[in-house]
Amino acid sequence: MEYSADQSRYDKMIYRRSGNSGLLLPAISLGLWHNFGSVDIFDNILKMLTHAFDNGITHFDLANNYGPEAGSAEINFGRVLSKEFKPYRDEMIISTKADYYVWPGPYGEWGSKKYLVSSLDQSLLRMGLDYVDIFYSHRPDDKTPLEETMGALDLVVRQGKALYVGISNYSAEQTQKAAAILNDLGTPCIIHQPRYSILNCWVEKDLRDVMGKRGIGGLAFSPLAQGLLTNRYLKEIPADSRISKEHGFLKKESLTADRQNALRQLNEVAANRGQSLAQMSIAWLLKDPRITSVLVGASSVAQLSDSLKSLKNIEFSNEELKLIDKISAPVMMV
Ligand code: NDP
Repeated sequence: MEYSADQSRYDKMIYRRSGNSGLLLPAISLGLWHNFGSVDIFDNILKMLTHAFDNGITHFDLANNYGPEAGSAEINFGRVLSKEFKPYRDEMIISTKADYYVWPGPYGEWGSKKYLVSSLDQSLLRMGLDYVDIFYSHRPDDKTPLEETMGALDLVVRQGKALYVGISNYSAEQTQKAAAILNDLGTPCIIHQPRYSILNCWVEKDLRDVMGKRGIGGLAFSPLAQGLLTNRYLKEIPADSRISKEHGFLKKESLTADRQNALRQLNEVAANRGQSLAQMSIAWLLKDPRITSVLVGASSVAQLSDSLKSLKNIEFSNEELKLIDKISAPVMMV
């Protein structure tokens, strides 16, 4: 049957401004790192993407290496864009990134202009797009001059291959420098994508303040700590979970007995708020206006549907916040 997007999709979502830019992003965005590759079932991919869009998720986050195999998440997204999503391109914010290893030789990884520009050309081909909405430097590269990496971001905007640019995994200091260079070039950094969750709060040290002061929006990735901050691992390790998958980035060693115990306690805090652990973990990030959007992953429509309900309550009492800190502090992840 031909796909037609839910007419009420924009009533179901909250949209927040990314830093000082003109860009509004949905409070919940969908990332295609896991579960959208060539090893995954296309019908499930299609169902998750259409469910997301039907519920007001307008932002889809990709990277040149998402799969496995690398590039296949972009190919699958391109398939959906060429058919179901074709009438809706202008209603979507599609991002991609480059910096991690994708092809052999000196130009298939890191932050050179040669790699970034070639990689974006490949991503556009895979997705069948003329331009992406946001292009990121995926991680800092201390061997390439920052001026060159930021120059590549500025160049692709001037070439019309990207509308906005962002950075990911940059420290507070690197962010200051990158933002200053981009400002001088006239292509502001409008978004930073850091890892951030109840179990990983490194951004709170100084990066959040830099983002706030510089007018850079925040897109929190792995907000559920890759699934730990959900009901998935409260008892045992499910056979279809990320930990069980050979290509999954979440390893069994992350689920220590102490951490699992803390997850059970956090689950109780969430239940007392009338939320699932996943819902509370997403809401906990959205309480800070510097976090424009929470970038979730999912392996099923049911999970995405559960996560979307977190928007019903993003307020926390001081007691709840203190309790969450107390439970999570001893089991933080690096
Ligand atoms: P999450 O922390 O949201 O983890 C997603 C996983 O959690 C799912 O695959 C699923 O696990 C489980 N899950 C999700 N929702 C629920 C739910 N409601 N109930 C129960 N379980 C649930 O995010 P990801 O680690 O997937 O990262 C999200 C996105 O962030 C990526 O797709 C990517 O776009 C971006 N990212 C960016 C990085 C960067 O360097 N810039 C690095 C990593 C991610 P299961 O599969 O086991 O069912």
